[in-house]
Amino acid sequence: MSSISHNLQAVHDRIATAARLALRDPQDIVLLSVSKTFDAEAVIAAAQAGQRAFGENYLQEALDKMDAVKVLRPDLLLEWHFIGPIQSNKTRPIAEHFDWVHSVEREKIAQRLSDQRPAHLPPLNVCLQVNISGEASKSGAAPDEVAPLARAVAAMPRLKLRGLMAIPEPEQEFEKQRAPLRRVRQLYEQLREQGFALDTLSMGMSADLDAAIAEGATMVRIGTAIFGQRHYAK
Ligand SMILES: *Cc1c(COP(=O)(O)O)cnc(C)c1O
Repeated sequence: MSSISHNLQAVHDRIATAARLALRDPQDIVLLSVSKTFDAEAVIAAAQAGQRAFGENYLQEALDKMDAVKVLRPDLLLEWHFIGPIQSNKTRPIAEHFDWVHSVEREKIAQRLSDQRPAHLPPLNVCLQVNISGEASKSGAAPDEVAPLARAVAAMPRLKLRGLMAIPEPEQEFEKQRAPLRRVRQLYEQLREQGFALDTLSMGMSADLDAAIAEGATMVRIGTAIFGQRHYAK
């Protein structure tokens, strides 16, 4: 068994354990494998082990990888999620090549993605990124900007608003990890109470997967625990 398939199994076990502790059904939690900095062969190894959804942060790297996977294994049906910061001059290839975008934080970017989503594809699935660490992070919409942004995105014809995404500041302790995740969940519940048909709470990475599931995550984004340590030198 390859180490990737072994690691995937270990992550599925972790998800199942965390779900059981939270009295949740593990089936309600989608595993997004974050393949940034890893090559097409790594994606194919994960796909052969049953993994379908892949997350990428860097546009050009992702596009090259998608092409390479298609050449090597045209039979694989994968789902691609863009989870990195979005520059407004890069929205078109994102709208054309991805199934999901988790990192929408401004109406202007959302509008471009909607305008540029090709007619032959289904609407682009969108999560709004929330900044729950305030000054410490520049990414994400402030919590009080999220409802107006959700209203705008929900009205865009070529986007499908699915939920919220957050990247909390790293914390070691379980309870410290839970606090910001709980605030994201509360925001998510408020939006649902206001009538938004959301089904996706995208939070939880290799280090805080268990806390995120305790706080209601429905999609966890896992890189290191599946593919190993990233090396950025290129
Ligand atoms: C890299 C990344 C991940 C995966 O992080 P790991 O700690 O390697 O699991 C998840 N979400 C986002 C937005 C990322 O950039």
